[in-house]
Amino acid sequence: MLYIFISPHLDDAILSCGGIMHALSSKDHEVHNWTIFAGDPSDSNYSDFAKGLHTRWNLADQNPMLARRLEDQSANQLLGAHFYHFNYQDCIYRKDSFENFLVQKEEDLFQSISGSQFDLVDNIRLALVKKIPQEAIVISPLAIGNHIDHHIVKSAVLKTGHANLWFYADYPYVVRQSAAIQEPMLQGFLQEKFLISEASLERWRNAAACYTSQISTFWKGAEEMFSRINEYALSGGGKILWKSSVNRY
Ligand SMILES: [Zn+2]
Repeated sequence: MLYIFISPHLDDAILSCGGIMHALSSKDHEVHNWTIFAGDPSDSNYSDFAKGLHTRWNLADQNPMLARRLEDQSANQLLGAHFYHFNYQDCIYRKDSFENFLVQKEEDLFQSISGSQFDLVDNIRLALVKKIPQEAIVISPLAIGNHIDHHIVKSAVLKTGHANLWFYADYPYVVRQSAAIQEPMLQGFLQEKFLISEASLERWRNAAACYTSQISTFWKGAEEMFSRINEYALSGGGKILWKSSVNRY
């Protein structure tokens, strides 16, 4: 079987379900991890917000996306997954229809789709329709956490109308958002549960650690990230995908 995980950024699918990806590839399934917002910035006139992130990522004075794509390559190799990088720009580099940066501060990352971003949804939808084989199971983020890029990806995937569509919970956002917000998003879905061996759990942690530049976004360091992923897995996280019993799209 061919499984295509759709990742908004270069880390989302693997942080969220790296254990499932390794469990599947170990059973000789073909696992793909396609990242949508993996493209280079159009120039180096970055917003102050983006500059601040580059410094925190230790990627100032270089092409940050090149370094991040290399991290992703290593992470996918550990999980036996094939990677593909689309050329769309992360929201921190995009501008709105008035040529203002879409994201100027942390809170701006979390917003719903508006204005020119609807055209982007449609472009991504078309690119996905061209590339997704009919027989594939496509696994989209649920967009838990309200990140604009996750909303855009989920919306584009839904609009492909692909018959075999599953979803994953966006980690670590999923452990930071209340159950009251998440439960309505999961109504009407069936759960597909996976057995994650100790070996797959270890690969998941090690693959997550390949995203060296991104660890500081959520954790103090790799050690804290390892223990948080362990806790998440122990509580049943990262072992379920959701799928619809009826065509609800
Ligand atoms: Zn993301």
